[in-house]
Amino acid sequence: MRRARHLQVAVLAAVLTVSMAGCGKDKKNSGSGKKVSLKAGSTMEKLNKAGKVTVGVKFDQPGFGQKDPSSGKVAGFDVEIAKIIAGEMGIPEKSIEFVESVSANREPFITEGKVDMVVATYTINDKRKALISFAGPYYVAGQDIMVKKGNPKAIKAVADLNGKKVCSVEGSTSEKNVKAKAPQATVTLFKTYTECAEDLRNDKVDAVSTDNVILIGLIDKAKDDFELVGDKFTDEPYGIGVKKDDTDFRNFVNDVLEKIYKDGRWKKAYTDTVGKFVKEAPEPPAVVRY
Ligand code: GLU
Repeated sequence: MRRARHLQVAVLAAVLTVSMAGCGKDKKNSGSGKKVSLKAGSTMEKLNKAGKVTVGVKFDQPGFGQKDPSSGKVAGFDVEIAKIIAGEMGIPEKSIEFVESVSANREPFITEGKVDMVVATYTINDKRKALISFAGPYYVAGQDIMVKKGNPKAIKAVADLNGKKVCSVEGSTSEKNVKAKAPQATVTLFKTYTECAEDLRNDKVDAVSTDNVILIGLIDKAKDDFELVGDKFTDEPYGIGVKKDDTDFRNFVNDVLEKIYKDGRWKKAYTDTVGKFVKEAPEPPAVVRY
């Protein structure tokens, strides 16, 4: 009788194990203490099992991704978004490896597998979508112009950049937009916007052009030296770059974004970072599931 009972329990346990394994989703715990439910065989499950994730971010853009040289820590809105996504995969903050990705190496970093995702003021567009996939958008910036304080060259709009020396970053939408909207501008290209700001400071260029929020972050560090002019002349919807056609991962990140729009974590991430110098907290943009 006793043996029969034991046998029954053993059989029941075996059946349960098999049926749980077959149900696609499983509860994982990677040491963060947080139990998460991730689709079997997905990138999220693989990262959870590895217990770490590699994320491409900017290292020199105050408000979005900036590395503190003394602590070695990166901070900003993009960094916060990455931490939240990692957390939803059961990966704690200390197990995220942040890698500097400048504008030009974002697609190669994703296609070559150097990073698992890129969260780096990364505009969603069709050209990039041919190489990688995007979740989001989670923020919409717009291109603008930064000049020396007092605007000595009287630049008021993008057309005024014709005949002027303008700095931007290679591989960015900013570079393409300046060339298209001010074809007579002489464009200097660097890897990062801080290098552009140095050229402006040293009068090697007349203006720097990129996303307003990037420029506002740079101005915040040098209020006596630079100012923003004109109105934004493009829309730059920021997405999270993942491997092309990794639909499960893209859907997962989109689900996380929609969740944090509702539960206040998006707003907190914003106000704690870029919101410190861009006062109006915008409404989060609707996620586009293509
Ligand atoms: N958002 C634009 C882009 O993705 C400009 C900013 C940047 O280079 O990160 O190219």
